[in-house]
Amino acid sequence: MTATTSVAQSPRRRFWGRMFKNPLGIFSMIWFVILLIAWVWPELLATHDPLQQDVTLQRLFEGPSRDHWLGTDQLGRDWYSRVIFGAGYAFRSILIAMTIAVVVGVPLGLFSGWRGGRVDRAIMWVNDVLFSLPIILLAMAVIIILTPSLDNAMIGVGIAMSTRFTRLTRAVTLQEKEELYVDSARITGLSTRTILARYIAPNLLSSLIVQAAIISGAIILIGATLSFLGIGASLDDPDWGVMLNRSRELFRVEGVWQVVPPGMALILTVLSFNLLGDAIRDAIGRDSSNNALSITKRTAVTAATTPHATGPDVVLSVRDMDVEFPDQSGRVSQILQGVSLEVRAGETLGVVGESGSGKSMTMLSALGLTPAPGRMTRGSVQFGGRDVTNLTESEWQAIRGKDVGVIFQEPIAVLNPAIKVGRQIAEPLMIHQNLSKKAALQRAGELLAEVRVPDPVRRLDQYPHEFSGGMAQRAGIAMALACEPKLLIADEPSTALDVTVQGQILDLMAEVQERHKMAIILITHDLGVIAEAADRVLVMYGGQVVETASADDVFYRPKHPYSRALLDTMPQSHDGHGELPVISGMVPSATAWPQGCRFAPRCDFATDACTNDMPTLEAIGGDLVRCIRHGEIQLAPEEAVQA
Ligand code: SF4
Repeated sequence: MTATTSVAQSPRRRFWGRMFKNPLGIFSMIWFVILLIAWVWPELLATHDPLQQDVTLQRLFEGPSRDHWLGTDQLGRDWYSRVIFGAGYAFRSILIAMTIAVVVGVPLGLFSGWRGGRVDRAIMWVNDVLFSLPIILLAMAVIIILTPSLDNAMIGVGIAMSTRFTRLTRAVTLQEKEELYVDSARITGLSTRTILARYIAPNLLSSLIVQAAIISGAIILIGATLSFLGIGASLDDPDWGVMLNRSRELFRVEGVWQVVPPGMALILTVLSFNLLGDAIRDAIGRDSSNNALSITKRTAVTAATTPHATGPDVVLSVRDMDVEFPDQSGRVSQILQGVSLEVRAGETLGVVGESGSGKSMTMLSALGLTPAPGRMTRGSVQFGGRDVTNLTESEWQAIRGKDVGVIFQEPIAVLNPAIKVGRQIAEPLMIHQNLSKKAALQRAGELLAEVRVPDPVRRLDQYPHEFSGGMAQRAGIAMALACEPKLLIADEPSTALDVTVQGQILDLMAEVQERHKMAIILITHDLGVIAEAADRVLVMYGGQVVETASADDVFYRPKHPYSRALLDTMPQSHDGHGELPVISGMVPSATAWPQGCRFAPRCDFATDACTNDMPTLEAIGGDLVRCIRHGEIQLAPEEAVQA
């Protein structure tokens, strides 16, 4: 067992631990339980019949006594028992209004937040109009249409309250859909409905519970107000609002005590619901990370002119891919320009370059996942010989997760914190291979064993926070391999891990590749990782491919100055004297690509000619290089030249 698991508490235990440490939380929970019993079984707590009047007229307006703990009202009815039975009216109001609010508001918010764009704006416009109307006005409108009763009033309150849930759900959905684990679920090929129901909705739960607790207090208050005004419960009902109404007329004559029992019940209940909401909010801690991946539809993609790679073993072939992003002013930046690559079964293609060079964007766009508002404007993508350039999202869902697996850089972030690891690995198996839940979980256990997670059966039943970084990455690999994909894309799979675990993960990938004969695209900024794992290398800079060659050629016979500069920054190529070389300057922004060669401002070999025209990608032997001086400059490391 790792240190993480030995000290970690389950989220449920942590939640209840925090709740019981909060005095206000304890008070609100006790009051809530009392009210709950009063609603479900009032006879257990009440000492009298709440409707029983004193026909002798001897015991009217009494103060607290042993027989009547809170005294009696103007008809000699027992205040305490009436207050206890009043809890039932309060809870019934909550039940009706809350059911309508949640059933209407939550799906609408999920839909609106997920869809975004014009649909979202239209829904939110209507929602905001309803939100701005006074709740009591909506309740009265429903009473006018139907018949005056507390239940009908609560229908109006529920509709009004649904706008709060729509807003909240939409806001959380907008945030959650940017999370890496949602990206991961999407790439796994899950349908939108499944992602919303199983991935977004569970993460909404905590926010919804807090909101529901606070809104419950408001519903009780509105119900009591309507009853107080005579348009809620009937005048004989033991409803707190009705009781206050009757007492209001009498307290000046018979003393202030007449308003105390129902008034205190109402105040304490509303207060306790608000405190309960606060306590739940304080007890729920949740970390989040950000990563954007809301995709745009592909429209009007100009066809590629370069022919695709051919052969039965070509898994993925990308040709002439351009991707553009508009900024807030509407100006368009070209993030990727003319990117082409291919990878074959059993081969590992290393894609290397600094951050901002376009590596991850290339893979996302190839899989139909260009993050919004970006757009693939030119190019062609083939997967297994099939043109997939213009597939719809649902057509992609049948490919991603089944034929393409993805391993991300942040293993913990790609796992949904609210769902057990076993279930997350089993999900693609149930969807793509139609396995039953039991069979999928059994296979998930086998996969965990295959990626050498100790005690896999027990691990299936654990949440992601109980996994260490290395274990989570292994679980991520198991998830990516679940459906035995033809292509595995590993985006910085070992960057977040320590050196020892890095090596283990790379070995593991090589091992499963050997077993499943799949193609791997390994995206990294680390040439050391490429040296260990790649057969061929694609070097990217400024959204372009600048060199493609075998791994040996890139390491021993680099043809592009950027490849050589990257080699020089490798700790392994440093002789230990002086500081490790760095590439001066920064990768330029896509909004300001330099004229001519994009690497020119940082290139030690740049001449004036380099800044005239953008160099084209030229074929040299079996390799490709984008440098006008590739024939004149010597870039091979000294030891390679001597050899
Ligand atoms: S074209 Fe010129 S600036 Fe660009 S990489 Fe080659 S030598 Fe350097």
